[in-house]
Amino acid sequence: MRRSIVAANWKLNGNLEMAKSLVTVIDAHSNGLEGVDTVICPPFPYLSYVGGLMSASNVHLGAQSIAEYESGAYTGEVSAEMVAEVGCRYAIVGHSERREYYGETDAIVAAKFSRIQAAGLIPILCVGESLDQREQGVMQDTIVRQVNAVAAEANISNMQNAVLAYEPIWAIGTGETASPEQAQEVHEIIRSEIAKQSTDIAEGLRILYGGSVKANNAVELFSQPDIDGGLIGGASLDAEQFNAIVAAGSL
Ligand code: PEP
Repeated sequence: MRRSIVAANWKLNGNLEMAKSLVTVIDAHSNGLEGVDTVICPPFPYLSYVGGLMSASNVHLGAQSIAEYESGAYTGEVSAEMVAEVGCRYAIVGHSERREYYGETDAIVAAKFSRIQAAGLIPILCVGESLDQREQGVMQDTIVRQVNAVAAEANISNMQNAVLAYEPIWAIGTGETASPEQAQEVHEIIRSEIAKQSTDIAEGLRILYGGSVKANNAVELFSQPDIDGGLIGGASLDAEQFNAIVAAGSL
């Protein structure tokens, strides 16, 4: 039985006041909930502060992104070691917004994935197809390419200490969720792809769904056999919504 993860991606949102009220309520709710880990990924400046508000052993801190380099003249960048030093346990990599707006290619995503693991963190690797790709019938090719760009680079054994997130681009922030069947189909594709290299690793791999998850659709999505929780954008900024999604992860 895989332990669920419900991760909050705040993106470029929030402030200290909001962080305090949100995290205090989420931490208290998650504390003691069986079978689920809660991960909160605030913007970089709030990492230490948010980490300081966490007391539950199943609530963890995550970074939204990290640099592909360890150190050096890369103005504005933040390394995996730095976020590990301030208490992060997870880091998101390959989010479609990073791929689309910041030119992160499969090769860059693979390099970042390796950096995250080298710093002792757990990557949450996002993959997902656009609406165009789905309509052109290349959804599966796209997902498999994105997964293998990292699985090949990182060595399959590193998938043991990783989390995947299937996030169809057409469902992110749009209010349009993949149906549980659509999501399950892709999660199964991902798990089968990993199973070609190791059935044990595939069986243990947590695969999250992301894309307009809300309190009213989380239970149905998370009850699919290959869906092990969610990566939550918009709804993670609302304590009541997010806590209900975390509760769905513990069922
Ligand atoms: C995300 O950006 O990872 C995401 C899933 O966003 P939303 O929940 O707002 O669709």
